[in-house]
Amino acid sequence: MPDGLSFPRCYTARDVHAEAPTPVYSHSRISSFANCPLQYRYRYIDKLKSPVEGVEAFVGKIVHEVLEALYADLGRARASSAEDYTALFRNLWRQRATSSLRIVRENMTPEAYRDLGVRCIENFFRQNHPFEGAEVLGCETQVEFNLDPEGRYRMQGYIDRIDRVAPGVIEIHDYKTGSLPRERSLRFDRQLTLYEIAVRDRWAGVKEVRHVWHYLAHARKFVQRRAPEDLIRTKLATIRAIQDIEATVVFPPRPGPLCSWCEYNGVCPEFRPKTARPLPELEPGSLQYRLFPLS
Ligand code: SF4
Repeated sequence: MPDGLSFPRCYTARDVHAEAPTPVYSHSRISSFANCPLQYRYRYIDKLKSPVEGVEAFVGKIVHEVLEALYADLGRARASSAEDYTALFRNLWRQRATSSLRIVRENMTPEAYRDLGVRCIENFFRQNHPFEGAEVLGCETQVEFNLDPEGRYRMQGYIDRIDRVAPGVIEIHDYKTGSLPRERSLRFDRQLTLYEIAVRDRWAGVKEVRHVWHYLAHARKFVQRRAPEDLIRTKLATIRAIQDIEATVVFPPRPGPLCSWCEYNGVCPEFRPKTARPLPELEPGSLQYRLFPLS
């Protein structure tokens, strides 16, 4: 890890895109550039490893893993109770929680995050048990696809779950452990629209694709569809976003409200915690609190 103080405020590097002849992009990669070009550079060009992991991402990872295990053996899931899967969540939490976890929100504790994960699993189980009415085509399915006929703009992603609910009717499921979306923001969601492009590429005879978001902590489900022109618009906008990234040689920092959650704020010259708190004494193996104010 380079010394944060030695980083310049902006980068100028003309060879930064020489990493691969045809780089493969993802929704999160493009979002990272839109959020902060310097964060993009740290993550995707310099490939800096962060010594900390955000607790929100940690909760999400374990919740996804438990739901993947549930769908891997539906016979067992049908005969089980929600408590069987919340116990699995608690076990994984105990095994994996380390001192590299970072909590930003001052009013939250490790136990509160653990309980949030438990609530997500309970809500999902109670809403969906006995898990019937669809053929599961895949969980955590990796997709790779082109945005253009020549294959110049390549994308990849992992779809949380793909169901066939009727002949030619596919559902793309996405699990969220965070807060509810703002009104209408799902209309402009790029991620599942890109996944629909991938699904239509992979399976012949798809007549309808439904986008299904599960806001697990709130026991809320949202379902939408996209028109053919939405897919074209998203393809073109994503190609334009990739062209912007590839034309960039200067990656300036863009400080904002998300800086407190940025895994590189320990090295970023623009991060200014107003009142960073001293860390409490740690027991071996306990969670590390790193409290920064929300800017
Ligand atoms: S701390 Fe903020 S400005 Fe710095 S790299 Fe992260 S997001 Fe960008």
